[in-house]
Amino acid sequence: MVKRDLSLYIKNLMPENGRNSDPDKPVSMWKELDRLRGYSEKTMVCIFKTTGCAWYNFSACSMCGYFNDISPEIKDENLMKQIDLLYDSLNDASVLKIFTSGSFLDPQEVSPRVRDYFFQRVSGKVDKILVESRTEYIRKDILESIKKYKIPLRIAIGLESADDYIMKYSVNKGSTLKKFMDAATLIKNEGLELRTYLLFKPPFISEKTAIEDILKSIDIVSPYSDDISINPMNIQRNTLVEKLWKKGLYRPPRMYSLAKILLNVDHNKTQVLSYPTGGGKERGVHDEKFDSKLLDLIVTSSLTQNFDDLQKYFNSLDLSEYNYNIELEDRLLFQSDYSLLVKRLSSSSIFY
Ligand code: SF4
Repeated sequence: MVKRDLSLYIKNLMPENGRNSDPDKPVSMWKELDRLRGYSEKTMVCIFKTTGCAWYNFSACSMCGYFNDISPEIKDENLMKQIDLLYDSLNDASVLKIFTSGSFLDPQEVSPRVRDYFFQRVSGKVDKILVESRTEYIRKDILESIKKYKIPLRIAIGLESADDYIMKYSVNKGSTLKKFMDAATLIKNEGLELRTYLLFKPPFISEKTAIEDILKSIDIVSPYSDDISINPMNIQRNTLVEKLWKKGLYRPPRMYSLAKILLNVDHNKTQVLSYPTGGGKERGVHDEKFDSKLLDLIVTSSLTQNFDDLQKYFNSLDLSEYNYNIELEDRLLFQSDYSLLVKRLSSSSIFY
């Protein structure tokens, strides 16, 4: 389940101390569109500052830099003040997405006392909530304690890939497909909903393999999931992926590939969506040239679940260079970012 030397290497890249910021304030809050109730609507998002993911005690996932936002000093009282601030900012938002830099359901990270405070505070004010959790905290007793508030709940699990080999050697997830399936079954049996996150293009696999992995994973997890969110790699600070990328040994996925995935999915089986973070940017999903229309279409079709306009636009594109690059990358040992390599080399002293 875990590759020890990879895990320890990733651990060494993590900074010693969390950020020294106000423990009474969430990391951030904003409103965005999502479709947690089956249609696109304004949704409040809040990232609570916590002590972080339990997995950080041993390592971290290869792409995860959320530890940059944690604070080891956070106590129940701090989290309660953060909850109050969220409550005061809700205004007309009745759908809520709660992120922590770990698992909302981990009792060490968010104690049962704080969890109860949160649900009591928002009860009667919001109609739908999404929280994230690793599989180990999706336990019957925890789910039962939340269900009593009678607020429709969707739990998001970062499976990343349904392939245990990729989870172990590329993502360093410290989990397995079996654990995901057990947690997903429990969620379903408890009458709750599940959003499954898949990571598009973890390190050490080509983009072509990554596309195949996502499509295969969607087939496997569809029966368990109310929706599936494809998260294309977004390079975060102090991570293994950033280390590879800075050396020119990793390239984030292309937006053409993301569109291709969305257009190759059977949308009758489950809802598949993608709201790329850092879309079009160097650290996020991007093509050689930024195509804002393609990004807009990916987001709007994800929100509406109508992919006709995306399909029409995609058909009009000349993909010959893209296809060439994808095939070439598939034959290489590393998924080099050539533009970045050339940029770095041309500004380095070896040419002088
Ligand atoms: S389980 Fe989630 S929060 Fe924890 S290290 Fe992995 S991606 Fe980060």
